[in-house]
Amino acid sequence: MPSNKSLLVLPGDGIGPEVMGQVRRVVDWMDKRRAVSFDISEDLVGGAAIDAHGIPVTDATVEKAMGVDAVLLGAVGGPKWDSLDFSKKPERGLLRLRKDLQLYANLRPALCFEALVEASTLKPEVVAGLDIMIVRELTGGVYFGEPRGIETLPNGERRGVNTQVYTTSEIRRVAAVAFELARKRNGRVTSCEKANVMESGVLWREEVQKLHDESFQDVELSHMYADNAAMQLVRNPKQFDVIVTDNLFGDILSDEASMLTGSLGMLPSASLGDVDETGRRKAMYEPVHGSAPDIAGQGKANPVATVLSLAMALRYTFDLADDADLVEKAVEKVLAKGIRTADIQAPGSQVVSTGQMGDALLAELDAMAA
Ligand code: NAD
Repeated sequence: MPSNKSLLVLPGDGIGPEVMGQVRRVVDWMDKRRAVSFDISEDLVGGAAIDAHGIPVTDATVEKAMGVDAVLLGAVGGPKWDSLDFSKKPERGLLRLRKDLQLYANLRPALCFEALVEASTLKPEVVAGLDIMIVRELTGGVYFGEPRGIETLPNGERRGVNTQVYTTSEIRRVAAVAFELARKRNGRVTSCEKANVMESGVLWREEVQKLHDESFQDVELSHMYADNAAMQLVRNPKQFDVIVTDNLFGDILSDEASMLTGSLGMLPSASLGDVDETGRRKAMYEPVHGSAPDIAGQGKANPVATVLSLAMALRYTFDLADDADLVEKAVEKVLAKGIRTADIQAPGSQVVSTGQMGDALLAELDAMAA
């Protein structure tokens, strides 16, 4: 019987195919042991697509991405394609997918696994049990606003311009994602901007508050200036549940928050768009890390970030919270046993390859499902 859950897998470049190989094993496990089956298709993106088709993503691939419930992406880029013009680089494939799928809400969880508490640069008591979610607006703001550019003034000086711009609907739709997430978590949203010095920040604050008062009064909303949020994230990160913020501040705050938890190899993400006629949000899930050319092909890559990206897909696209919990629990148990890829090794831990990390995760899944 065909499954009603469709997944497009785009492994990409460098370590992308290696980590995605382990994710495919977890997906196969779900099919066999949990009777959760997916219609999976696989395609090229990034440098792999440039090599095959001359462009970083084809129209056919974008069309496939538009037609599935979720896209799972590995990573793109590498030295082989570094000399290409900016408009032809592997990363353009990713940007095109985000743009065409209108993925305006970027979800970046910062979750500190008990076994990795020591890997944080902060004191264990500050990060132990940390579980926050940053929702970053992804398609608007200063990275896209017009006018933009560099001009030469009559006096010979040069002037660079970017424009921070947001509309009511852009603010409301990303805030709605944050409120909905908070309802499934601890019921609190902190909205961050610079309303003290920016008109776009005043509008952001007013619109988030208005939406809250209209539709999300059950969620606790507070507002915080983004610079203060940056300080609070290192002072007392556990005060936050969901943070919602614009593209620029979100770029910075999400990177800051993710580093509270240790390694790039552990960090998943989701990018969500609008709800379509079938009731599902357009969605793409991917690890935060890149293609890691320095370790590609050596079996050293940590597959956990991509496995946790699959868990996010199970939770947010497919409403399979129990299965997502199971996958996250398997990661926790493997780490607790001291089984680590090289990027997260600690004194006394057993350093394993990408494939052996996959083996260990499947063994834990088997044990839990027994
Ligand atoms: P990177 O994330 O690829 O690597 C940074 C460092 O972290 C490297 O030392 C790498 O070995 C390590 N690392 C990353 N992921 C790891 C994992 N899963 N397991 C173990 N170690 C891991 O960033 P970079 O080196 O700045 O960029 C390399 C390439 O990736 C560039 O071409 C860049 O443009 C691209 N990139 C792509 C994405 C994406 O596809 N979303 C994101 C960032 C960078």
